[in-house]
Amino acid sequence: EDIRVYEFAEACGKSASEVISVLFGLGMMVTKNDFLKQDELEILGEEFEIEVTVKDALEDANYIEEYHEEDIDDSNFETRPPVVTIMGHVDHGKTSLLDKIRESKVAAGEAGGITQHISSYTVEKNGEKITFVDTPGHAAFSAMRARGASVTDVVIIVIAADDGVKPQTEEVISHAKASGCPIIVAVNKIDKEAANIDMVKSQMAERDMTPVDWGGDIEFIGVSAKTGAGIDDLLENILLQSEILELKADPTAKAKATVVESLLEKGRGPVATIIVENGTLRVGDNIVCDTTYGRVKAITNDMGKPVKELGLSETGSVLGLSDVPAAGAIMVAQDSDKEAKDIATKRAEHERAKELSKSTKVSLEEMSGLIAEGKIKQLPVIIKTDVGGSLEAIKGSLEKIANDEVKVKVIHAAVGGITESDLVLASASEGCIILGFNVRPTGSVKSKAKADGITINTYSIIYDLLDDIKDTLSGMMSGVI
Ligand code: GDP
Repeated sequence: EDIRVYEFAEACGKSASEVISVLFGLGMMVTKNDFLKQDELEILGEEFEIEVTVKDALEDANYIEEYHEEDIDDSNFETRPPVVTIMGHVDHGKTSLLDKIRESKVAAGEAGGITQHISSYTVEKNGEKITFVDTPGHAAFSAMRARGASVTDVVIIVIAADDGVKPQTEEVISHAKASGCPIIVAVNKIDKEAANIDMVKSQMAERDMTPVDWGGDIEFIGVSAKTGAGIDDLLENILLQSEILELKADPTAKAKATVVESLLEKGRGPVATIIVENGTLRVGDNIVCDTTYGRVKAITNDMGKPVKELGLSETGSVLGLSDVPAAGAIMVAQDSDKEAKDIATKRAEHERAKELSKSTKVSLEEMSGLIAEGKIKQLPVIIKTDVGGSLEAIKGSLEKIANDEVKVKVIHAAVGGITESDLVLASASEGCIILGFNVRPTGSVKSKAKADGITINTYSIIYDLLDDIKDTLSGMMSGVI
């Protein structure tokens, strides 16, 4: 979507006038600088025998438009800390482990300040940083990944040493494997009498997760979230894994971050907890995040302290968005507030359009259901015209040609060429005909219609169209269509 006529021509090695004349021949008036609509793209694809995929504009906006790739400069690359996610079966100690790691690593003076569990934080081990993120669950983790958020570099699967592999552990294994991230198994609760690390190892080996000391490639670290045993070992292992990954990013770039949690805070407004993936996020930056935007008013770090900026892989809460973004949304700094606003507005419009098209589809389905049941005789039609004015006129006149016995049922009316999707729609309603006013189908749509037994009538005079329909209706009255 959002491609202009001349851009399309360039992309497929045609001249703009060739593109214009194809559309013109089908009754669609466009100029070189017009944006092509979806049906026009379909038609052009067919005509030039090229594959045209109409991409989701929202996706486009996420990955192309909003992020200036030129901002990424190899020469500025720096090693960035790993982002680690812990997943596991409920009660195996994910939360306790996250809290214990944090507690064991904050400076003594600050330890008293940690009273509640938070969703992400950074710790230091041997002078190197590690960021932990608490995803609400493995499903949420995969959903975020599906949206393109790279929220994690290393996955830790926590398994209670006294309980072993459970159904949710199995799910976690699948999600972790699918992520392609290195996996470390933390065998928790080793302080317990019933702890049995070997049992966990053999259960995991059966699932293609063979421990390193058994000749496989998965590290198993025994830990206790209660006593803190093994936690240093676990952190060292994370650093080893991340060294192999050679994680790099550009701290001088405009910030790109992932939202891991968000909420509306009374008196403060939308708050988004983020992890910086690239660049540096600063107070005062213009940001866009899905369909919301704003200017960074304040940043609070993972210790709850106000800071001026967040660097690579660092985490904190950001104030200043106009709305609450969803977890997994990608936040990107823009050059100007206008740019941020434009992108957000465009996306919001796109989402609205998507919603609208969904609801029409539903009602169309309902309609064809009604027709199928139908005691009332009606003539379902699809109307396609070259301009909005004639569309309204034809639709209005057709709906008036009705009596108690029969009437015209407009299944779909739109400005644009006659396409395959119109055929699909028509075949869903028995007896549906397609009416084109100053628009015509392409050759292949014509032959497909013929094969499917769908009538396409095209007109250039409104009265001809109306007369034809009147005739058809009187035929229906006498029982002959
Ligand atoms: P989550 O559901 O995976 O987040 O598990 P929690 O962290 O809430 O822990 C579940 C229960 O196990 C709690 O009662 C914890 O106190 C306990 N627990 C967690 N880790 C350990 C551990 O290493 N040793 C012992 N003995 N108990 C633990």
